[in-house]
Amino acid sequence: MNRLSGPEPDVAADAGWTGGTPRKGFFTDTSVCIGCKACEVACKEWNAVPEDGLTFTGMSYDNTGGLSADTWRHVAFIEQAAPVLAPVPLGMPGIGPAPAAPADGDLPDQGTAFATSGVRWLMSSDVCKHCTHAACLDVCPTGALVRTEFGTVIVQEDVCNGCGYCVSACPYGVIAQREDDGRVFKCTLCYDRLSVGQEPACAKACPTQSIQFGDLDELRERAGKRVEVLHGSGVPEARLYGNDPEDGVGGAGAFFLLLDEPEVYGLPPDPVVTTRDLPRMWAHAAAAAAGLALAGVAAVWGRSR
Ligand code: SF4
Ligand code: SF4
Repeated sequence: MNRLSGPEPDVAADAGWTGGTPRKGFFTDTSVCIGCKACEVACKEWNAVPEDGLTFTGMSYDNTGGLSADTWRHVAFIEQAAPVLAPVPLGMPGIGPAPAAPADGDLPDQGTAFATSGVRWLMSSDVCKHCTHAACLDVCPTGALVRTEFGTVIVQEDVCNGCGYCVSACPYGVIAQREDDGRVFKCTLCYDRLSVGQEPACAKACPTQSIQFGDLDELRERAGKRVEVLHGSGVPEARLYGNDPEDGVGGAGAFFLLLDEPEVYGLPPDPVVTTRDLPRMWAHAAAAAAGLALAGVAAVWGRSR
């Protein structure tokens, strides 16, 4: 039926696939991301994505800056001045002032920590959200963007004509053009690997399982339990982002567990598929056109009398 918004139980069937393959996706648990960027490297290596500058921004230790046509996975480093839990001292050199020792001079027991002021690092591996309602796909005039049997969204680079409509349509600012020929590129959720039963390169390379790949329904269940565990462990700020089928994009195929507001990670707080209002706009345009036509007919008829 090709709906443009709202919950959509089977995106692949909606796109004409009949195999009944469960929708695949990512659950990225940022609470265990260590910022190693193994996912970025694995993505570039597997997909032969070219190097894109690696400049020191001066704002953070992050040297890739954001998602782009040549960075399909991006690990954001967010440095916050905030009270943090001091690590168990291991005798290693560190940054910033040393945490105050407990009053009795004893080191805390292994596995315990004490609050101190300092810098909190939030790390999060961002990627294309493989939206349920993908505006990039809806506006593409050449059919270069397509929905796969796994429910993911991919670009066929040999069909893209470089018009850039999808770039302004994406509510997350994910998809981007290469400067040389203007064609767009983004994460394919490793369609070639999925097609032979393998997991995506980034998920395979992640050493902490911050990036989890699987059937979307199962991932949503797992993510809900993880939030409960974190809340029970004294991390009330843990929340899910992009997992709700009722949200503005009908739920993302790649969703996240965050430890702060989405804006802190550079994510839009309430994304809406930019083609949501198209049917209403076309209805208004059609009504206006019909009104003009009627007025024209009336004017001609009135003059001829
Ligand atoms: S995040 Fe942007 S590029 Fe990715 S599927 Fe959604 S609209 Fe398309
Ligand atoms: S799924 Fe594949 S293409 Fe997408 S970010 Fe991971 S490694 Fe890159």
